Amino acid sequence: MVGIERRYLFKGVLVLDSALHIGGGDDLASVTDAAVVRTPAGTPYIPGSSFKGAFRSTVEKIAGAVGGIRTCCLDPDDDFCIGPVGGGRQLAFSRDEERPKSDRQFVKMVTARLCDTCILFGSPYLASRIAFSDLYLVSGESAYTQVRDGVGIDRDSERAVDNIKYDYETVAPGAGFEAEIMLLNPSRKDLFLTCIGLQEYLSGFGSLGGMRSRGLGRCRLADLSVYELDLSDENRCIENLRNYLLETEPEKKMRRIGPAAAFIKEQILGYLEGEGSDAQTVG
Ligand SMILES: [Zn+2]
Repeated sequence: MVGIERRYLFKGVLVLDSALHIGGGDDLASVTDAAVVRTPAGTPYIPGSSFKGAFRSTVEKIAGAVGGIRTCCLDPDDDFCIGPVGGGRQLAFSRDEERPKSDRQFVKMVTARLCDTCILFGSPYLASRIAFSDLYLVSGESAYTQVRDGVGIDRDSERAVDNIKYDYETVAPGAGFEAEIMLLNPSRKDLFLTCIGLQEYLSGFGSLGGMRSRGLGRCRLADLSVYELDLSDENRCIENLRNYLLETEPEKKMRRIGPAAAFIKEQILGYLEGEGSDAQTVG
């Protein structure tokens, strides 16, 4: 196992620009066919896994166009990455590869067979390096919900189907949810990919939840702060670790890097002008 060497925390507010629907499963007490997911206290929230999934596909769409970045999700014929479940690649991998002698060797072996987005966001072999907390309403704010009518659409003809009507619940635009994203021991590539996603959400190009083709789930990230914990610097390791262990507020546990927008641009530009451009010229 590798301990903590470097950790980044991104804190901000995810603001809904349009209504949001993230289904909460069957709820017999609900007044709609499809209720939104709620906390036990009844307040709508955004599961971290939903945000992570949306963030991942946002990153993957762009990452595929960047030189030196490998992402399997956009290419169904990708025969390199063993991340996606199903297909013969995982079977062939476990059959053909030699048994690793240690955890470290296993991690090295698997990492060599995963694409860059599977390394960052996780695969059945390795845990992700990035974690998304559940997003709760900004304290003191309330969220309004609306019930909307839907029409059943035939998937083949894409026409409305008679007599199939249902309604679904949404969280109204304007609500803000507190977002926290943690990045553990990232490589330069991991940081670059994370910053691509953050930049998209900061620009209002992010989306989330279901029924996005109907304009639902548009959102943007606001009030972003970046914090860093660096234990790789020998001179400051003890001091940084002491603050991290003794304090409870992220502002005191970790070093705030500001402003966030400049940090993100620096990571993106650093990669594009360095490794990214090298990779493009090499092919
Ligand atoms: Zn992959």
